[in-house]
Amino acid sequence: MDIKYRSTRGHGEHVSSSEAILKGMAPDGGLYVPACMPSPDRSFKDLAGMDYRELSFYIISKFFTDFKKDVLLNCIDNAYDQKFDDKSIVPVIKSSDVYFIELFHGPTHSFKDMALTLLPHLIKAAARNVQNDRKIVILTATSGDTGKAALEGFSDVEGTEIIVFYPLQGVSKIQERQMITQEGENTHVIAVRGNFDDAQSGVKAIFADRDFNKTLERRGFMFSSANSINIGRLIPQIVYYVYSYLHLLKNSEIGAGGSINIVVPSGNFGNILAAYYSSGMGIPVRRLICASNINNVLYDFINKGIYDRKRKLINTSSPAMDILVSSNLERLLFDLAGQDANIIERLFLKFAETGEFEISGEMKKKLSLFYGGFATEDETFSEIKRVFVRDGYLIDTHTAVGHSVYRKYKGRTSDNTVAILSSTASPFKFPGSVAGAIDRKYAGLDEFKLLDVLADISGRRVPAGLEGIADKKIRHSSTCSIREMKDAVAGILGI
Ligand SMILES: *Cc1c(COP(=O)(O)O)cnc(C)c1O
Repeated sequence: MDIKYRSTRGHGEHVSSSEAILKGMAPDGGLYVPACMPSPDRSFKDLAGMDYRELSFYIISKFFTDFKKDVLLNCIDNAYDQKFDDKSIVPVIKSSDVYFIELFHGPTHSFKDMALTLLPHLIKAAARNVQNDRKIVILTATSGDTGKAALEGFSDVEGTEIIVFYPLQGVSKIQERQMITQEGENTHVIAVRGNFDDAQSGVKAIFADRDFNKTLERRGFMFSSANSINIGRLIPQIVYYVYSYLHLLKNSEIGAGGSINIVVPSGNFGNILAAYYSSGMGIPVRRLICASNINNVLYDFINKGIYDRKRKLINTSSPAMDILVSSNLERLLFDLAGQDANIIERLFLKFAETGEFEISGEMKKKLSLFYGGFATEDETFSEIKRVFVRDGYLIDTHTAVGHSVYRKYKGRTSDNTVAILSSTASPFKFPGSVAGAIDRKYAGLDEFKLLDVLADISGRRVPAGLEGIADKKIRHSSTCSIREMKDAVAGILGI
């Protein structure tokens, strides 16, 4: 079956997967979604025998139907290789009450690698599929992890330039150092004087700027995105949910037909949307548990049906979730609205004018698959300690938000359905917060020195991508204001 992509704000014009991936975002300001959901044509028992690469190919080829088989296979083989420091790609770790799916074994040690090791290959192949010969400029706003994963993925990829904007005070020391030491002639990193939402709307505005895009086109460039607004990032993320479910099935942790709960520490709502899509493909999901930090817009939305960004963004120890405007919620809303683009257009018009919107009673009813919770900073730190003391297992701040919300969920609902938790980053990316949570004597110590402390107390090695990072040469030091973002891009491209 040929799967086409349509815009959440569009009126009918469908595009191929290659076009959707190349453009990143629909010209009408909406996001591309599959016009229909493919369903597996093989039994779970069959699929359970596949390794991560095989399953990736099986699932992704169902969505990206205009890619030739051998081309897609090649993309996948080049993504999920020895760059990952675990042979299984995604180890599933059982603890006393949940299965942690460790999504951080890629080169930059957050779950963003799951899609961003693949996306550059997909974009190159997509450009060939539609005979695009313009240079692709990847424009990305990051709350810390996407930036590095995208830089690493696109570094020295022929025919591309990558420009990453990160909020100057909104990322961890390690995250910042990972980005500003990035090598590769085509990589550009700029710190924005603002928060992540500012950076993300700045990038979206550049995407939507017709004149600027025309100038770019004349000069032989085109924009694309490495953010999860790009469908090329979302679809590969479905794979690990299917993979984890099959893992539990294979190991008789659940019976045939048994459902699971999925817990996802959420920010831009991409990761949990992939979990939602996996349920659309037939994975029996009982509850999708959306965990927020104190920037709890998603919690409010799931509980009240009102999305309200009119509040101050607070910097927390889980910076990748310090977001007030969750882009991918638009894709869920589109489904809840029965795929009616008019409803979405109206909601977002209201949102642009007033900073909030409320969904209809009918749409609210369909939200019941989701449960929303949040964790405060104190709860996050105690959770890191609790899990470490109880299971000897070290988790990062984002995963801890997820675990705290899950524990409270279980207390409140007595729902003992087998649950998997998306472990979104290595604890080594946030050594200050993690070590400080375990023992106060580490609080405030040098983050780079704490890497070795964490290795000592956890018995794990400092991940390869972070080893020696304190001594790496700093290659990027530009900063700009929100208003200067467009000029910065023009300057880099020489237009
Ligand atoms: C990006 C990120 C998140 C949030 O994921 P979304 O897809 O934006 O909801 C959570 N944790 C970590 C470590 C991340 O890097």
